[in-house]
Amino acid sequence: MNVIDTLYALDAKRPQSNLFNGDHREAVGECVQRTVANMLTVATRYDHWIIAYSGGKDSSTVVTVIVTLLQLGAIPRPKTLIVMYADTRMELPPLQAAARLMMQRLREMGIEVIEVVAPMDDRFFVYMFGRGVPPPSNTFRWCTPQIKVEPMTAAIRDRIAGLDGRVLTLTGVRRGESKARDDRINLSCSRNGAECGQGWLQTDLPGDLTDTFAPIDHWTLCNVWDWLSVFALWPEFGSWPTAIIAEGYGEIEDMRTGCVECNLIEHDGALGAVLRMGGWEHLVPLLGLKILYRELKKPRHRKRKSGGQTRKDGTLQTNQQRMGPLTFEARLMGLDTVLRIQRQVNDMAAERDRPGIVLIDETEEARIRELITLKTWPRDWSESDPDATVWLDRFNPDGSVEPILYRDLVGQ
Ligand code: SF4
Repeated sequence: MNVIDTLYALDAKRPQSNLFNGDHREAVGECVQRTVANMLTVATRYDHWIIAYSGGKDSSTVVTVIVTLLQLGAIPRPKTLIVMYADTRMELPPLQAAARLMMQRLREMGIEVIEVVAPMDDRFFVYMFGRGVPPPSNTFRWCTPQIKVEPMTAAIRDRIAGLDGRVLTLTGVRRGESKARDDRINLSCSRNGAECGQGWLQTDLPGDLTDTFAPIDHWTLCNVWDWLSVFALWPEFGSWPTAIIAEGYGEIEDMRTGCVECNLIEHDGALGAVLRMGGWEHLVPLLGLKILYRELKKPRHRKRKSGGQTRKDGTLQTNQQRMGPLTFEARLMGLDTVLRIQRQVNDMAAERDRPGIVLIDETEEARIRELITLKTWPRDWSESDPDATVWLDRFNPDGSVEPILYRDLVGQ
């Protein structure tokens, strides 16, 4: 019996208590069969393969499926196989723990694993509290390129510099569940339980660097969970440490994966699901992160342009008097809050003999304080910009100005 037959057979006797009971799902065996066919058609034209791994469910599926297929001889080995892990430190702790186990396992198998971290000043909290850039939002999403895509691109560039031959990057992008869906929605990492960053890597890696390929593009969310929570655990397919990923997200359909308490998601149930798992109660203080992000978006913590800003060609910008960076007081408040959350989690973790977390390490805290001391602002901003709470005459995009009525009443 070959590997695909084995998968079909296993699929037939898989547990009935499916998390989503996807009655119309394609069998995992069929998905794997198409992955094998696609890999044979596309990936075998390349000498070196890099798997972009974040510890989320989609990239974990790619890693485990591809390595399993190589082990079983279903696809030929490339000259080089590299797994690159984007370590943002912001992923949910159970996923970070699963990623550590996974990387240890891959290294024991002789597979090269590279852990990629953003440069110091680009890291999530250093950028926010050191440079003063407000928390990311749907209208200002600086985080994904900065903490995931750009560091991964740089690491790939470094690693392949000496390689002879063609390089292919494998990502965890999926579109299988709704073929009519606009690709841009899928790539935005906000639907279909997508994994933040994978779509960007799929589309934004420079073509002169490597081509990209999505070997589980046709898999549905149910297929991914079936693989991670059932088949990947079976000895026939490598006994992978993926149960913790499935447990962490298992009860919530359509769950995306990304940073803990991501500010771009209105109701991100991921942390709540983890807290209900048991054994992770010490993570409760992390719920304070989203509260902090929402607070920091308010005018009382930010600067504002006074009006009259122009483009390079001299015409007026449309978003006059826009709000901008965090004040120094807000940054220090944010830093203290995150350090307090980190301390609370780690104190509770120590009491329970559970793994702690690192949101901001000592070197990052020192760099944040240094940047604040140096009075660092984002490009085009300075201390002389007014606080966003100051009442200003209204500056319209056409250049007209509407004076504040009752200026005396507001005391300015
Ligand atoms: S998960 Fe959210 S906060 Fe993290 S990189 Fe993606 S969009 Fe940004």
